[in-house]
Amino acid sequence: MINPVAPAEGIPLLSVIVPCYNEEQVIGETIRRLGAFCTELESFDVELIFVDDGSRDRTRDLLMQFAAADPRIKLICFARNFGHQIAVTAGIDSANGDAVVLIDADLQDPPEVIRQMIAKWQEGYDVVYGTRTERPGESVFKLAAARGFYRLLDRLSDVPIPLDTGDFRLMGRNVVDALRAMPERDRFVRGMVSWVGFRQVALPYRRAERFAGESKYPLRKMLRFATDGILSFSTKPLQLSIGLGIFSAFLALLGMLYAVLIRLFTDNWVEGWAAIMVAVLFIGGIQLISIGVVGEYVGRIYGEIKKRPLYIVSKYYGFDKSPPFMTRSPVVRLEPAKKGDGR
Ligand code: UDP
Ligand code: MG
Repeated sequence: MINPVAPAEGIPLLSVIVPCYNEEQVIGETIRRLGAFCTELESFDVELIFVDDGSRDRTRDLLMQFAAADPRIKLICFARNFGHQIAVTAGIDSANGDAVVLIDADLQDPPEVIRQMIAKWQEGYDVVYGTRTERPGESVFKLAAARGFYRLLDRLSDVPIPLDTGDFRLMGRNVVDALRAMPERDRFVRGMVSWVGFRQVALPYRRAERFAGESKYPLRKMLRFATDGILSFSTKPLQLSIGLGIFSAFLALLGMLYAVLIRLFTDNWVEGWAAIMVAVLFIGGIQLISIGVVGEYVGRIYGEIKKRPLYIVSKYYGFDKSPPFMTRSPVVRLEPAKKGDGR
């Protein structure tokens, strides 16, 4: 089959990457809206890369059906759930576009905003990132947690990372190639894009409510994501633990002086038990925290040195030639697109 989305001479290719995890309730509508939007984009060829992040529901089957019907759709199926940021990475690895857009599957990021992103890109920006002006339909807790997290990250990070900005963004080929050269495992994609540099610009947009289904980010995943963001972009927690150590050593010194003076110059020195207990517990606590912080970094070093592939793909579908991802993950086998191909 001739691939109708192979980039024709002169016409730029736009790759849209959509990570999906248990999105059976939204995926049909997402494909309908994204597809309609892309059909209107006359001056672009489009490839829609869906990454099925090990969904347990019918997402994968639905995606296969849509991919069989629409040659613009390409599919990467993971062997299990590897997480949102890894799914986005797999999409980036296999995208061939001159410009690459990251968008969530739940229609919280309106596809129509992509048109404004493209306009900015054509003005000469290399990254156009969506900044959320409003986020209706999120819980008070999520809003507060996100607000706090982005501000904390901004204070701690060595690279400025824009506030209230998700992964919804357009990136030029130069940025995508730079990202593909970054092999780290704990991937905080939005921070990595900031780190790369080039010309970046914010595009304020109104985030919509989820079209259907529930958030795939329970508290556990949110915490993991926040820890990845902070530890991957800052060594300040290590400095903090040194600071805490110095502070507690100073308090301990005061305590020692106090104990010696009481012992030498008064009669009631047996009563110092409480002070000793407090000091011991306090220092013990600080030590445990510090070891924990060091341990987090050591754990990450361990993860990095194992050099496992970032993700395992059970099936590629709809790709017509070897995408560049083969270099990152040699275990995968490329299966050419066949119409009506089953699993
Ligand atoms: N997602 C994923 N793997 C995961 C969790 C989420 O690919 O382990 C996808 C999900 O399908 C969606 C996007 O990442 O397209 C953002 O997730 P979600 O909308 O649940 O997050 P929220 O908008 O609530 O922060
Ligand atoms: Mg969402």
